[in-house]
Amino acid sequence: MDEVSHEEIWNAHLKAKKALLDHIAEKTGVIMDINVLTLGFARRATAYKRAAMLFSDPERLKEINRTGKLQLVFAGKAHPKDDAGKRVIKEIYNYMAGLRGEVEAVYLENYDLDLAARMVSGVDVWLNTPLPPMEASGTSGMKAACNGAINFSILDGWWIEGCIEGVNGWAIGPYPMVPIGENERRRIEIKDLYNKMEYLIIPKFYHDRDGWREMMRSSISKTAYYFNSHRMMRRYITEAYL
Ligand SMILES: *Cc1c(COP(=O)(O)O)cnc(C)c1O
Repeated sequence: MDEVSHEEIWNAHLKAKKALLDHIAEKTGVIMDINVLTLGFARRATAYKRAAMLFSDPERLKEINRTGKLQLVFAGKAHPKDDAGKRVIKEIYNYMAGLRGEVEAVYLENYDLDLAARMVSGVDVWLNTPLPPMEASGTSGMKAACNGAINFSILDGWWIEGCIEGVNGWAIGPYPMVPIGENERRRIEIKDLYNKMEYLIIPKFYHDRDGWREMMRSSISKTAYYFNSHRMMRRYITEAYL
């Protein structure tokens, strides 16, 4: 990756971002701007993944959006019997309606492998906000890293091992082993989520584009080189199957 230029990384990303935005326009009629910082969130809609966490304080989110524009792309289906998961999707739809006219946001239907590929390659930041220690892995973050998207996630699952703060992404909140209650943890996580967006992520994207591209490069060189299915197969074979 040291030999791949920032321009090459950025141009490949813009191509993938344009493909995602074209897909969104076609499916929803919403026209998103390729120059705007775009956050993605997609996975099974189930309660512990806490997909609605970003919307915990809509006024703060609108305020942050005034310091640097945001676009939100969400997707994910609930299991037919998972009523709590279905409620999360409804909740997000309502929050998105409340943001209309200020923060551009879409919830895409029929999340599948094809849409996952478009999203993990087309967004700038991949968000994950599970309730620790529930996330076994969180593989979509690794897919995002392979594509140079930058992870912004709760320290749970693979991200506990993968995160190098400010180098290949950003953490949200404390480590799972920090002994605090669920409500207190949630309070800290939400504060951290908004503060890092306002003071680290937005300024880096809009005012330090070279630094941003370097983080994209690190996302690939310091994350994807290790968290990949080749390693997974090698270790299953040598440490479990044989
Ligand atoms: C990667 C992927 C998942 C799993 O994502 P997590 O972040 O581990 O929840 C689920 N569904 C699809 C279609 C995927 O591509």
